[in-house]
Amino acid sequence: MRPPASRLLAPRYSALSLLRARLSREYWQPLWRRSTPQEHYDVVVVGGGGHGLATAYHLARDHGIKRIAVLEKKVIGYGNVGRNTTIVRSNYLLPENHYFYEDSLRRYETLSHDLNYNVMYSPRGVVDLANSDDEMVGLARRGNAMRLAGIDAELMDRQGLMKYAPVLDPTLPRRYPIVGGLVQKRGGTVRHDAVAWGYARAAAALGVDIIEHCEVTGLQTTAGIATAVETTRGPIKADRIVFAVAGHTGHIGAMLGVPLPVETHLLQAMVTEPIKPLLHTVLIYMYGHSEVYMAQSDRGGLVMGGTLDGFPSFAREPLWHRLEEVVQSAVAMLPQVAGIKILRHWAGTNDQTMDGSPLIDRLRYENVFLNGGWCYGGFKAIPASGAACARLVASGRAPDLIKGFNLSRFATGHVLDEKGAGPFPVRQ
Ligand SMILES: Cc1cc2nc3c(=O)[nH]c(=O)nc-3n(C[C@H](O)[C@H](O)[C@H](O)COP(=O)(O)OP(=O)(O)OC[C@H]3O[C@@H](n4cnc5c(N)ncnc54)[C@H](O)[C@@H]3O)c2cc1C
Repeated sequence: MRPPASRLLAPRYSALSLLRARLSREYWQPLWRRSTPQEHYDVVVVGGGGHGLATAYHLARDHGIKRIAVLEKKVIGYGNVGRNTTIVRSNYLLPENHYFYEDSLRRYETLSHDLNYNVMYSPRGVVDLANSDDEMVGLARRGNAMRLAGIDAELMDRQGLMKYAPVLDPTLPRRYPIVGGLVQKRGGTVRHDAVAWGYARAAAALGVDIIEHCEVTGLQTTAGIATAVETTRGPIKADRIVFAVAGHTGHIGAMLGVPLPVETHLLQAMVTEPIKPLLHTVLIYMYGHSEVYMAQSDRGGLVMGGTLDGFPSFAREPLWHRLEEVVQSAVAMLPQVAGIKILRHWAGTNDQTMDGSPLIDRLRYENVFLNGGWCYGGFKAIPASGAACARLVASGRAPDLIKGFNLSRFATGHVLDEKGAGPFPVRQ
């Protein structure tokens, strides 16, 4: 039987006091001031997702740049920053990736303090499961690469894993065996929209103008230099321009006449109704032909996702076959969850690069920069990307951490092939 609503409320608040607060705005202040576009900025950042906001924040905080605007065509949090499954980790094989993502994970560890906003970093551990001896060899290779770089990684055999994650109860029937796994204990989850709101709030407090409902539709240039962006709210002059538009990166390439090695693909996710605490870690695994990852949210829902849809699209429409595939794989791994209802199912747009690693570089003009190609793994990259991209824009030089993320690698062949730097690292 459901408890009466009054018992669900924390004792400090009655329904009436919450309503009064809502109406009086006494407790519900906007997190950042609403801005209107000014005529001219030192830096215009296009895209109010995680990467755009973090870049603007670091430009203001670390480099003292005063006149900065973030232009967002919808509202803050509407894009992938508010659609992802919140997993953070640095368990990559290639040095260019693992050092960068480790920098990001370290920044996530202190982000609540830095932004003075609780982003709910939860180091609950990330487990990459192996269903076969071959997979164990691949995971061992990745774990060794990480440990040589000073990044925490633990290879666990079946017994160790069962102790670490009792939810993988060995007595339950499973189609594929669990052989072991690679565990990164500092990995985990971070509340995604808190990251967007926290950066927006902190950037605005440093004087950054956050301008929603302002789509950039073109670029004005003179003598090989960009001078202004054209927007749905009129032209805005800028000394430097950063495009951080995630799933729309290809559009920007087309706008600037530069073909980019990027395709937009959909990634879907879903969440179940809330259940009691069951899954204390993040599980990532390959089940038959499908790859799945899941974690339990603080509200109790199991958040799950699968692989890309496999064809380019901007539709953001979740498809039933993916839901079915993910649910089947989830139940096959954790038979305990069979029968739990799916509450919501959604999709986001990912700018997939051809080698799966990101792009932070100049784009065609000396004073235009691209921050994109985050594929399906860019949430975990936000703190490091913001700091590094801001340094590139402010100083004109790419810090070592992002030198490998240049655009020219596709011409020279120095690609960073880690198959998406996403939730499904290749089993090398
Ligand atoms: C279902 C799903 C699950 C995921 N799970 C994870 C995960 O667990 N861990 C992880 O690390 N990553 C994950 N990702 C990937 C991650 O969400 C993205 O890589 C990352 O959020 C992209 O960067 P962003 O936050 O800046 O993007 P966005 O939030 O998409 O920001 C880009 C913004 O640019 C705006 N924009 C676009 N064009 C214009 C224009 N012309 N003018 C003005 N504004 C414009 C858009 O409206 C958007 O708000 C997942 C993605 C999806 C879809």
